[in-house]
Amino acid sequence: MAKAVYIHIPFCEQICHYCDFNKFLIEGQPVDDYLNAMENETKRLIKEHPFENITSIYIGGGTPTALNEKQLERMLHIVQQSFQPDLSKVEYTVEANPAVTDRGKLGILKKAGVNRLSIGVQAFQDDLLKALNRTHRSADVIKMIETAQQYGLEDLSIDLMFGLPGQTLEMFQDSVQKALHLNVPHISAYSLQIEKQTVFFNRQRSGKLPLPGEDLEADMFEYLIKSMKLNGYTQYEVSNFGREGYESKHNLVYWNNDEYYGIGAGAHGYLSQNRYQNVKPLPHYIRKIKNGELPLREQTHLTKDERMEEEVFLGLRKMEGVSKETFYRKFSIELEDVFSEQIRKLVQRELIISTSESIRLTERGTFLGNEVFQEFIGLD
Ligand code: SF4
Repeated sequence: MAKAVYIHIPFCEQICHYCDFNKFLIEGQPVDDYLNAMENETKRLIKEHPFENITSIYIGGGTPTALNEKQLERMLHIVQQSFQPDLSKVEYTVEANPAVTDRGKLGILKKAGVNRLSIGVQAFQDDLLKALNRTHRSADVIKMIETAQQYGLEDLSIDLMFGLPGQTLEMFQDSVQKALHLNVPHISAYSLQIEKQTVFFNRQRSGKLPLPGEDLEADMFEYLIKSMKLNGYTQYEVSNFGREGYESKHNLVYWNNDEYYGIGAGAHGYLSQNRYQNVKPLPHYIRKIKNGELPLREQTHLTKDERMEEEVFLGLRKMEGVSKETFYRKFSIELEDVFSEQIRKLVQRELIISTSESIRLTERGTFLGNEVFQEFIGLD
């Protein structure tokens, strides 16, 4: 049964050079039709897969705050009507771009009960932001955070990026220090991935993307982990750091391999043991819903083997690791009986630790996470 809701708002005011999410320049897009379609999809999903207890709602994108005030109010109203969240318990996050978030929109979010903002900062050097084709500058971030705090939005998360073209260790250190200085309770940091169909992909192919290289990237990650620890943030997942009580409930739904609604063009969801993704193009998404169809691009019913694999490779992203007791409760078989060879090999390479309660990454394993996770894929 679904524990969380992800809603995709695929509109942006400008397209970043590294981004391969499903997004479209907002100008001239059928936003109102999109919201109608989204409302219908939500009703249908709830009817076919009723929920009992939703712990988190996450509105991402795209840039949800690129909607105008009326559209933003409408979208939040749809969420309220559909899920009627108990806002004293439910984590309700909206992704916000510092450049497009003005006082009016922040007031609307607060009034609708949104209690957490995830802010795409990425870096604090204006030249670097420009090179990424971000719309905001570092001064916007500071202004936005102050305004959000004035509205009583205290649960703020900042996203940073490392391994960016032209980024030096000093630049990243400066970004981390500036993020810490803002005193927000949650910070995430991801390394740049070069994805197909992005400007950076084309530049890399033509040899015009000065990436820092693996060693420097590892130095950046190491600096991040140390600085977060020194400043009272717990690394509760490979890329996520929070003050006590501020771990993202929504992200934990993904890593705990729990089910969630995915709503909107290109959104991924997991319901009744089916992983699915919606179609990406807006006209396609809107048309399918108008025709009374679910807007599915693909859907896979997971076998028990696949669910066990996911339990481990998603769960290992958490620093607490994968609980052996939970694994047994979910699958009626011991973790070691399924993955004995993989566990033995990874313990020997000092990439994971296996105790009577759990398996989890070692410090070395945190740096080589992808190598570890892929070991658990491909049960016959
Ligand atoms: S604002 Fe976000 S979704 Fe939009 S292009 Fe940039 S990274 Fe992608």
